[in-house]
Amino acid sequence: MNYKIAVVEGDGVGPEIVAAAKDVLAAVGKRFKHTFTFADAPMGGCAIDKFGEPLPQSSVDTAKASDSVLLGAVGGPKWDYAPKRPEEALLGIRKALGLFANLRPVKLYKELADASPLAERVRENGIDFVIVRELTGGIYFGEKGYRNGAYGREAYDVEAYGEIEIERIARTAFELAEKRNKRLLSVDKANVLLSSKLWRKVVHDVAEDYPTVVLDDMYVDNAAMQLIRRPSDFDVVLTSNMFGDILSDLASALVGSIGLMPSASFGVANPALFEPIHGSAPDIAGTGTVNPVATIMSAAMMLRLSFNLNAEAAAVENAVAKAISDGCRTKDVAGKTHTPLSTEQMTREIIARI
Ligand code: NAD
Repeated sequence: MNYKIAVVEGDGVGPEIVAAAKDVLAAVGKRFKHTFTFADAPMGGCAIDKFGEPLPQSSVDTAKASDSVLLGAVGGPKWDYAPKRPEEALLGIRKALGLFANLRPVKLYKELADASPLAERVRENGIDFVIVRELTGGIYFGEKGYRNGAYGREAYDVEAYGEIEIERIARTAFELAEKRNKRLLSVDKANVLLSSKLWRKVVHDVAEDYPTVVLDDMYVDNAAMQLIRRPSDFDVVLTSNMFGDILSDLASALVGSIGLMPSASFGVANPALFEPIHGSAPDIAGTGTVNPVATIMSAAMMLRLSFNLNAEAAAVENAVAKAISDGCRTKDVAGKTHTPLSTEQMTREIIARI
């Protein structure tokens, strides 16, 4: 089969990690007799430089005409004070493709347990949960602006959620929980926010259609604490756009490095999008030290979720796990015990195990 993938290299470490994932996909293609063709869809700072726009329409069109989208990362200090920010491309492409559901698996490789800042007694039962983050609603997309207020010039961003938005992301989470350990935790701030009160009500209504799943609720402040105190108790965590953004960075620290965390975003009609959860890491761009695992594991999610290639996805996941258990480490997780490999060396070690 031939699969057409739109590729967003982006900025900073983006081109380095995307190159790693493309090499891995090429190796998968060779072993399993598929062809993956790549079409560049520039977005972010590099697109501002070239086209004056963080999200050129031609890139949206390329993404829509593809079977799936692979994204590195966008942004960097060069564009911090630009009139248009590279990050606008992220929100724009999510909206353009209707990518309302974002899955972020959080898994601790047991060989990397030492890279986790958690005490052994906290992580000894393993960490393996998925954050289901709503991606096209809430405060990032709400009304925003400036006005004059009692304290002078005032800026505001509105958190608003509609029933349909909540229901569809809740169904995604319940369906995932059904396939996992049948435990769903919905995280909100229903003690303070009306939008959270509606969130909780709709999630509980949806729960009636999934009687085998045990649903719990937790306030986001408590969830941040419990994720650190007892991460092994979590299975599927459902939450809003902003809470999911923050909690998943917290979760990335639990497993040792943000460079290990992949993600998948999907909607109904358009191709899904796969990207690491981290940003463009400008502090290490060009040094050859960026961990490619998050992007390679995002490609594995693409194989499974966009193309239904389960054996191929497992081949990538197993190759990553084997490389790690064989002692291959990039600098972010090498610690004092391992000689760090470069991004390219790490990628080669993974490919050798496919
Ligand atoms: P970041 O995720 O880029 O980096 C945070 C820290 O983690 C840095 O020290 C970085 O070196 C390290 N890091 C990140 N990925 C790594 C990897 N794969 N291997 C090893 N170390 C890694 O977050 P930031 O510094 O807050 O943001 C940098 C830029 O990225 C900003 O412009 C931000 O807006 C943008 N950003 C983009 C995305 C995206 O494209 N999806 C997401 C988050 C941030």
